[in-house]
Amino acid sequence: MTMNQRVLLVDPATGFYKTRKYGFDRYFGPVDLGIHLTTEYRSLNFGVGIFAGSIFPGSNRLVVTGFSPCWQGYYISSMGGAGLVFDNLGVNMLSLAGKAPVPSILYLNRNHGEEIEVEVVPIDVEAVWKAGRTGVYSLTDKVYEMFGTRYQNDPRILVAGPAAMHTDMGGIMSVPISKGKISCVDTWAGRGGFGSAMVRNHGIAAIIYGGTMVDEDFRDSKVADEWFRNKYNLRLVQKDMEATGKYRYDEKVGTGGTFGVNYATMGGKILAFNYRSIFWTEKEREELHQNFIVDHYLKQFNEETIAARQQATCGEPCVAVCKKMNGIFKKDYEPYQTMGPLCGIFDQRAAEKLNHHCDAMGFDAISGGGVLAWLMDLLDANLLQKEELGVTRMPRWDTADFDIVDDSMHNAELGCELIDAVLERRGILDFREGVRKWSRIHSRVKGVALHDRMVYVAFSRRGWMIPNQYWVSGVLAPMAIMGKYYMIYSHDFIPPRTLGRMCADRMKKELILDNLGICRFHRGWAEELLPEVMGTLYDCKDRFLQKIQVLASRLNSHNSPVFWESERNVDFLHTFLKRKMETDKERNPELANWLEKFERDRIEGAREFWYDTLMGIDESLREFF
Ligand code: SF4
Repeated sequence: MTMNQRVLLVDPATGFYKTRKYGFDRYFGPVDLGIHLTTEYRSLNFGVGIFAGSIFPGSNRLVVTGFSPCWQGYYISSMGGAGLVFDNLGVNMLSLAGKAPVPSILYLNRNHGEEIEVEVVPIDVEAVWKAGRTGVYSLTDKVYEMFGTRYQNDPRILVAGPAAMHTDMGGIMSVPISKGKISCVDTWAGRGGFGSAMVRNHGIAAIIYGGTMVDEDFRDSKVADEWFRNKYNLRLVQKDMEATGKYRYDEKVGTGGTFGVNYATMGGKILAFNYRSIFWTEKEREELHQNFIVDHYLKQFNEETIAARQQATCGEPCVAVCKKMNGIFKKDYEPYQTMGPLCGIFDQRAAEKLNHHCDAMGFDAISGGGVLAWLMDLLDANLLQKEELGVTRMPRWDTADFDIVDDSMHNAELGCELIDAVLERRGILDFREGVRKWSRIHSRVKGVALHDRMVYVAFSRRGWMIPNQYWVSGVLAPMAIMGKYYMIYSHDFIPPRTLGRMCADRMKKELILDNLGICRFHRGWAEELLPEVMGTLYDCKDRFLQKIQVLASRLNSHNSPVFWESERNVDFLHTFLKRKMETDKERNPELANWLEKFERDRIEGAREFWYDTLMGIDESLREFF
């Protein structure tokens, strides 16, 4: 088994490349090595974990590391399954440093264990994005058409869309290809805007890779079963089935996947109409949830997707089959939440239309959806006019006589118009340097803080991130990396100092998974068992865990958090706390204390809550000697 991390360093400016080895004693995986390379070369890195190709389910994530254009800090993003084909290249990581002079495709192929073939091939990417299935889908088709026949085994293709060229929130998309057939199950490294980094910093619009290299991956099921039996009294498959239940099918709620389970259990915690629902009464929210979600949006999903068993994997063999489909549309909770209820959309046809267009254009869907909801809110509140945003219609956000099918579709069509307007920079729109900077400029002109209606985490001077879609305090925590699950999203009230410490601990656990290239849906056993396997197979459990500590504090040392700039962030937290007291009847005296502080002065209360959280984070992640 490999005891080196082999990195293929490519300079897209010239097509020159070299391989470099890094000792397994210093760098254990795609995150610690990727962050090191980013620091050294400002590179964008794609890597797999040490268990890629192994018998462990979920072990084939492709992990992307680099400097995020939207977050403006180090970031880590990953996509499922894309590591399986990458493993056939015989390297652990691809690192891009330098920029191709015109948008190009990077072609990587390793046949018969020979040297990797590397080519940088220019492409008229704007024309391709406009053709055929449009955007990332037509680029996938084009790249496969150009290079597919050169591979003996099915390759995999990473692509970016127009959002990568014209905004800082473009993601990277890839679909499994099986026996020459390009599937519809798109997987994304969306968060962090690494599509924008790939296109704008490196001139690469797509990467196609594959090969025939077979290395000695761990595939001994007898030994693995023994480890699982010793720890859980279950075989590997049994424990994995148990750990991934929510993502496959949850008997208790009669649905499955993140979309099904979250919406089935959400009740009065629903977030809708750009978070305006936080100001409603619990009864109003529960009615919305029952009438619009349970009786329609979720019902459609359950009938069309769950009952019809339309489900797939990300490309690796996995019992979770978490990709819940309806034809060509994949239904994850967060995109179908931001481009669903958050935009005033409660019907699957409408949500499919908007999500598909946003995906095709290559946006990080959570950020894209959060921004669309914010722009719709500004239109509805008359703070911006249609002409300023280059669109022809206003949102229909009046719940009193809301037509669940027609009005959802109307809002989805407005969303599609807004996407085109953003990409074409219509009216006053220009998100090339991010929405936060744009808002600052236009708020000055308007004399009103437009970002007061946007819920986002601010970082550094112009970094921003639309938070994960749960009405909890953890999603706004001042962690060094936000927008993914390096935080606690429990619905409990957790005093901020404790919350900060818990977020820090969660970050370390998630780093174990990311640095091993493991899908977090398998965290029920992976974060506990795999460090032990590192000990058994490579005699490095303690060094690996020590490295995770160092990595977490290294990332934290670059933390540049900014106190919430937006009124709605403050309201988001304040109403969360109020709801805990009034609806959930939480009797923690600390909760009452915090509510008093907010009643006295909500901004000061929020500031104190924020600082306390930061103290908890810092005291857990600071390096002690
Ligand atoms: S849970 Fe989903 S994303 Fe994760 S490995 Fe399985 S199929 Fe892929």
